[in-house]
Amino acid sequence: MKTGIGIAGIAGRMGQMLVQEVAAAGAPLSGGVDRPGVSDIGAADLFADIGGLAEASEVVIDFTHASTARVHARMMARSGTPWVVGTTGLSADDEAELKRAAESIAVVYAPNFSPGVNLVLALAEKMAAALPAARYDAEIVEMHHRQKVDAPSGTAIGLGQAVARGRGVELRDVMQSGRDGHTGARKDGAIGFSAMRGGQVVGEHTLLFAAADEHIAITHRAFDRRVFAAGAVRAALWVRGKAPGLYSMMDVLHITGK
Ligand code: NAD
Repeated sequence: MKTGIGIAGIAGRMGQMLVQEVAAAGAPLSGGVDRPGVSDIGAADLFADIGGLAEASEVVIDFTHASTARVHARMMARSGTPWVVGTTGLSADDEAELKRAAESIAVVYAPNFSPGVNLVLALAEKMAAALPAARYDAEIVEMHHRQKVDAPSGTAIGLGQAVARGRGVELRDVMQSGRDGHTGARKDGAIGFSAMRGGQVVGEHTLLFAAADEHIAITHRAFDRRVFAAGAVRAALWVRGKAPGLYSMMDVLHITGK
């Protein structure tokens, strides 16, 4: 029988925080999965794979590693169980598989589950639509803890996508990441990315629109990863019983970019 919330990546930093937030929400925990060989996950039931966890859960929250995305998408689609995905660093092929899964199950996929960042995403789209791309250079600067394995962060890419949407372009056509050496002058309409890694910074993102005569910057700082875990649990409670489809945290929070 499907009851409760299951957690993929339950032994991880986010996984352990999610266990606490599921309890804080008064929801039952159905169990978890992690890499083979990981056994220390506290009192929760450990399943062999996400398919087994999904069969036992009303909804599965997944904060693992990008390498799991395609296998998890196929197993989740087969199970019929809604899926909340927080894992970042997914490739275009991974995301295509996730979209295929969303044809048969409800999927909430968000690079960042904090309410504040999702408001910033909505603002970013509005600002980008209002500020001419040839005059206002968009730059995204982010800093994260030294253990983070992907760059730019999923949130930084989400910000870039919001700016690109506002400007009516595709991010992949204008993204400029990791400048080094003789890069030439900045192209009109480029969206620049810089990533810093160090210490235990939970997540800091600044979106800057730089014109010759003014700068506009919005900064979001997360001090505690609990904000992501609480948001993901909120998404999990929201998505139960929803029709198949690909949803975002903006849908959960009823924020629209327009
Ligand atoms: P972490 O390394 O502490 O935890 C990841 C967990 O996943 C580990 O316990 C690991 O053993 C497990 N795992 C790895 N491969 C697995 C597999 N094949 N099957 C099952 N489990 C597997 O990392 P973290 O800081 O908890 O972050 C996890 C992911 O969540 C990262 O992609 C990170 O960028 C992302 N993240 C997203 C948000 C958000 O709001 N969307 C916030 C924070 C982190």
